Amino acid sequence: MPGIYIETFGCQMNEADSQYIAERALSAGYSIAERPQDASVLVVNTCTVRDNAETRAYGRINHFKVLKAADPRLRLVVAGCLAEQDRDRMHRLVPHVDAVFGTRELVRLGDALAAWRSEYSEAQAPEEEERDLLLPLGGSADCITGAYSHLRAFVTVQRGCSYYCTFCIVPHVRGRFDHRPLGEILEEVRRRLDEGAREVTLVGQTVNAYRDPTGSADFSDLLETVAAFPGLERLTFVTSHPKDFTPKLAQTLGALAKINPRFHLPVQSGSDPVLRRMNRKYTVDEYRAKVAAFRERCAGWALTTDLIVGFPGETDDDFARTVALARELRFAQAFTFVYSPRRGTPAARWDPVPAEIGNARLRELVAAVDESVVAFHRAKIGTTVRALITGPSKKDRSKLAAKTLDNVTVIAPDAEGEAATPRPGEPWLDVRIDAAHRWGCSGTIVGRAARFEGQARRVAPPVVDLIAG
Ligand code: SF4
Repeated sequence: MPGIYIETFGCQMNEADSQYIAERALSAGYSIAERPQDASVLVVNTCTVRDNAETRAYGRINHFKVLKAADPRLRLVVAGCLAEQDRDRMHRLVPHVDAVFGTRELVRLGDALAAWRSEYSEAQAPEEEERDLLLPLGGSADCITGAYSHLRAFVTVQRGCSYYCTFCIVPHVRGRFDHRPLGEILEEVRRRLDEGAREVTLVGQTVNAYRDPTGSADFSDLLETVAAFPGLERLTFVTSHPKDFTPKLAQTLGALAKINPRFHLPVQSGSDPVLRRMNRKYTVDEYRAKVAAFRERCAGWALTTDLIVGFPGETDDDFARTVALARELRFAQAFTFVYSPRRGTPAARWDPVPAEIGNARLRELVAAVDESVVAFHRAKIGTTVRALITGPSKKDRSKLAAKTLDNVTVIAPDAEGEAATPRPGEPWLDVRIDAAHRWGCSGTIVGRAARFEGQARRVAPPVVDLIAG
């Protein structure tokens, strides 16, 4: 059976699209390859939100040239935002790419996969060892793999964005808001639960602006309806816009026990003049008030954010306000970036802040953010958390990785040899937290459960502990 290998860059919107591609490929008769050297079709699902993501995607596309050269029947497909943005020049930049599908052409990509399928039945792929030699380097993007990816379902509820922040490429490559009908979303959630999903993530670029085009449901109504599915264990969502955070949503989050206690609310800057130039549609005080309303209803939740430094025109004083806001609000995690201009956006035409100033500001902001992030992780030491497995740790396959409900990565020794024999039937790990780090926590697996609410089976401590003890 031909294999498809899918590598995903960027946001959870792209992860949702990659799940769709994987699903169409499976139903067309492909298997999911865990390594590019095992595939007949390679899909690079790209992101262009930052310069770095674009460079990495092109690097990866070029990297696959050796596999194409060795096996002419191998197809290399580029999908996602970069495909949309660079459609006209991609054939010139990377002529070995066979097909390009923009963000609004996923259905066409699925149809193409089905059409190509018959060509692979007689295909003679190069020997496995030969391909291994050709492609010695691993990738840094997320790839869709078999054993655990079905546990987390990303369900797209809305495409595009109509807010036109002056730094953002999304409305230009994904178009304006296009909300999915409620009935269609519920149908997909039901199907994903039947396929074994334990956690559903509702995905949209500005997810809390959702409006059902066939009725009157807003995002709070959508959350309530999805949370009522009997088989659903956990529910979460990304990404929210402060403008659309309403008292009704705060109340819904506080009331629904199945929603994971984490909330991503990008603030971008702690300075009103910068927010105005970014066209963010709120002031710092309005953001503060929304956070206060959220914390009143959702005590103990993880609040996370995005912050940009070095935006055109950002002064020392603007930047100092951003650092002060990060210290004041004590985010559990913050994705921090130096502004990078995106072709075709208004801010790309404005005078840049010199790179050395932007980089120095980023270092200072990261240090400020790290204090609250590490404190958030440190508070877990000595507790036992229930976390959903993601698989063997990418850095050390003798360990397992999982994510807590508040989205903290936990790593623990694989005492039962799961890397060799995956056990997705017991996806919930009870991990005793022993240490906190910038990236998350490390600990010891003390139990496994089949369901989030279920009783745990006790897991023996790893051998190394017995020797040490
Ligand atoms: S809200 Fe702004 S940053 Fe977010 S997707 Fe829309 S335009 Fe981009």
